[in-house]
Amino acid sequence: MVRALLTLWLMFAGAALARAETIVFTDVNVVPMDRERVIARTTVIVTDGAIASVGRMAKLPAGTKAIDGKGAWLVPGLADMHNHVTSRDDLALLLANGVTTMLNMGEATNAFAGRTRIAANKGEVPGPQIFTAFVVDGDPQYGHFVVKTPDDARAIVRLAKANGYSFMKVYTNLSAEAFAALAAEAKVQGIGVVGHNVAAVGLAKQLAAGQAMVAHVEEFFTGFFPEPPADDQQAPPDDARIADAIALVKAHGTTVTSDLFTYRTIAAQFGKPEVVKAYLAAPDARYVSPADRIDWARSGYQKKAVDLSRRVAFEARFVKAMANAGVPLIAGGDAPTIPGLVPGFALHGEIDAMLSAGLTPWQALSAATRTPGTFIAKTVPGAGKFGIVAPGYRADLLLVADNPLEKPATLREPLGVMTGGRWYDATALKGMLDGVAELRAAR
Ligand SMILES: [Zn+2]
Repeated sequence: MVRALLTLWLMFAGAALARAETIVFTDVNVVPMDRERVIARTTVIVTDGAIASVGRMAKLPAGTKAIDGKGAWLVPGLADMHNHVTSRDDLALLLANGVTTMLNMGEATNAFAGRTRIAANKGEVPGPQIFTAFVVDGDPQYGHFVVKTPDDARAIVRLAKANGYSFMKVYTNLSAEAFAALAAEAKVQGIGVVGHNVAAVGLAKQLAAGQAMVAHVEEFFTGFFPEPPADDQQAPPDDARIADAIALVKAHGTTVTSDLFTYRTIAAQFGKPEVVKAYLAAPDARYVSPADRIDWARSGYQKKAVDLSRRVAFEARFVKAMANAGVPLIAGGDAPTIPGLVPGFALHGEIDAMLSAGLTPWQALSAATRTPGTFIAKTVPGAGKFGIVAPGYRADLLLVADNPLEKPATLREPLGVMTGGRWYDATALKGMLDGVAELRAAR
């Protein structure tokens, strides 16, 4: 445990020193993700946390740190646009998995949404840059902040903004009056509205009121598609209705979070305690915190006997259709709240799930890089640019052994990760993972 803490401290000290440096990637193949292309054997120069140039070998001061990219591929760092990460250890797991941007979609502690977020965004804590959403609901059954009146809704938007949240996340049981007031005040305050279907409103009206993002694909089941027949409650919608959903989100320019892996993982454990036991025994579960392990073991999903398999299959077809229609999709891992979803690893699960759904590697990787960058640029005033390898963008980079547009599995094995200009090589990343595992084992 002492060794783990020391390792973390040394990485912290090293990271803090790295920022002022100029760092050059030499002879590296770049997948910039601005469009589907590769820039072969080029140079990428990073200064002060941002990409300064791609493709030009400027005269560099003596002693400039060089990273040999020969035979390797440099892609934008990954974005996990739906998680519930609230600890510095989980930030280390994200970083070790190549994640350089995260959006906490609820249950962030004040300390995380304030202090940790600010420290991570300054580079004082190793991890991705952090955005947070403040969740409001109409009743306390899910443990969310309850908002009843329009006055309360307007007040909480202002408070969330003052406390550094980038988004308001609306939840199922909010009243129509509270939703309307919240959406209007969010426009005034310049803070984005994201989240679930609000049962009293419905996605069509929510998107028309300016909701910028739907937080799960399955929100369309309750919020848009016709209700299933009473004698077959888990029947999937008719595929013919997919076009209507696509027309709706395209009409409003709404972003949709792809969470195929989450839904599939939930479906797999419904009514099956043995599946949850297997999740707890899986190799990646050694990184899960004791509190999350207890939550996993106690989760109610295993007690429900519902067969969601036809809906899981429908979601895959729906996401593929959205990708082909040009709907802005962003990838979310939803860890660690759902049993089986480990921070960082879950995002790779989502990328794999998108590929299994028939998305091309370009489409899947776009949902984890460039599209999150576009979404944040559109919804968070003053946020830095990220998600593309180009001058002026945050130096969030992932170095891998193969071309991920041909072999996307390479993304799971980073040779190194740069976040905001701070470089962590494979040894440092492994040290972070081992450090977290040691802390968990010492409990
Ligand atoms: Zn979630």
